[in-house]
Amino acid sequence: MRVAIIGSGASGIAAAYYLKQASITDFTLFEKSDDLGGTWRDNRYPGVACDVPSHLYRFTFAPNAEWTRRCSPGAEIQGYMRDVAKQIGTFPKIAFGHEVIEAKFADGGWDVTTSKGPQGRFDAVISASGALHHPKMPDIEGLDSFAGGSCHSARWDDSVDLTGKRVGIIGSGSTGTQLTCALAEIAGTLTLFQRTAQWIMPLPNHPIAEEKRKEYRDDPAKMDGYYHYLASRFNEVFGDAVSGHNPEAYDHMVEACEENLRASIADPDLRAKLTPDYKVGCKRLVLSDGFYAAIQRPNATLETGAISKIEPQGVRMEDGTLHELDYLIYATGFHAHSLCHPMHIAGRDGRVLADEWADGNYAYRSVAVPGFPNWFMIGGPNSPIGNFSYLMTAELQAKYVVSLIEHASSGVTVEPKAAVTEAYNAELREAMNGTIWVSGCDSWYFDKQGRVASYPWQFSRFAEEMQAPDFADFLIGS
Ligand code: NAP
Repeated sequence: MRVAIIGSGASGIAAAYYLKQASITDFTLFEKSDDLGGTWRDNRYPGVACDVPSHLYRFTFAPNAEWTRRCSPGAEIQGYMRDVAKQIGTFPKIAFGHEVIEAKFADGGWDVTTSKGPQGRFDAVISASGALHHPKMPDIEGLDSFAGGSCHSARWDDSVDLTGKRVGIIGSGSTGTQLTCALAEIAGTLTLFQRTAQWIMPLPNHPIAEEKRKEYRDDPAKMDGYYHYLASRFNEVFGDAVSGHNPEAYDHMVEACEENLRASIADPDLRAKLTPDYKVGCKRLVLSDGFYAAIQRPNATLETGAISKIEPQGVRMEDGTLHELDYLIYATGFHAHSLCHPMHIAGRDGRVLADEWADGNYAYRSVAVPGFPNWFMIGGPNSPIGNFSYLMTAELQAKYVVSLIEHASSGVTVEPKAAVTEAYNAELREAMNGTIWVSGCDSWYFDKQGRVASYPWQFSRFAEEMQAPDFADFLIGS
């Protein structure tokens, strides 16, 4: 079997690991950038960290005793990704600077073309190209007229020093809040332009002492026990609370967010501005221990008015106020539904993936699409994302996809049956009705058709779905 993996972020690394475990060693990871790590390579803004505890946000096959904080900074996670890729021998298999432009199915295989030209035929392709990957710029008049410096949060310019500067941040999601915490400490003034308030769950982010790290180094079983403890807290308590399967835990979550706001913000006007008008968990919950303190610093301003336009000097509000700025950061999120974009993926009988998904992305159990034999995805449509450890999701999908590829190694092609895929998606849409995500807010979970691209069931069901393929659900071709 010759396998192409698209992307060398967490999903690509997991795919490479499980292919090797299955003794499939002829594979290449095509990476458009000059470094691996995906999200952690792209997101280098001040304050970036993963709000999933580090001892959970790691591969099961690469425990790490060395995490320095409960929720480690992005650079440390990026270092971990590099170390893992080296440990498992993936580094030499990455073709850097190769952006996959096209993959075409013909005569039982996939012809893959990258920005550097045709790369030959592969028996199977695993797309591990990321979900929160394409930066979304806001649709605001005058964006290009700003005379100061600016960037999207996922395109950070490491050479910029914002010490003492007048800084503006548009967007108050997970990224905007992390930026606020970091920049309020160094900026001359910081203005956060908040369109919609966020619920904030307190998450103390304490350092992990060397003593504790040594304990984990010396006793890997103990560290593993902690991983499983965190996994059960996240998936069975937190995840189930958000997905509506643990009402008691949900009530605790609501109390924690409300109390956090009450206890942290004394000024009733500011508290009113920071109080969301939708249910906790409707938008992806923000986990932060520092945001409320940061926004109350004397140099910080929370602006909740409507933005009229951007001018050379700064941001003009609809009430006429001008916020003069030196630097403006767009923490405005991602095109979360542009999966596999902008690759041209041509399957069987002239089918094109972008056309198949014109009315919304869909897949069989997130990993495969009818009409696209031996084409697999990690982080595909309706994968459990958001408030889960994405590494758990990626690993389960990678193992499952590799089982399908092993099956195809006997010279056959594998693709999900159309009827089974339709039934799965109908059940998924039905289950989405009544979830917290459709309870009255806007978020990146919604696609253009107004459907929610998350996973409506419990993580335990997802793990069960990914246990082993049911080959009765697949067309086996030759
Ligand atoms: P996001 O959650 O989509 O937030 C985008 C923000 O920009 C929102 O506050 C949005 O306001 C605002 N916005 C967008 N267009 C605007 C406009 N034209 N005018 C004014 N405001 C505008 O994006 P994100 O914060 O980058 O986070 C995306 C996801 O990445 C997270 O939910 C999370 O899953 C992941 N993430 C994770 C971590 C972590 O620690 N694990 C950290 C960062 C990000 P509205 O709310 O009004 O739309």
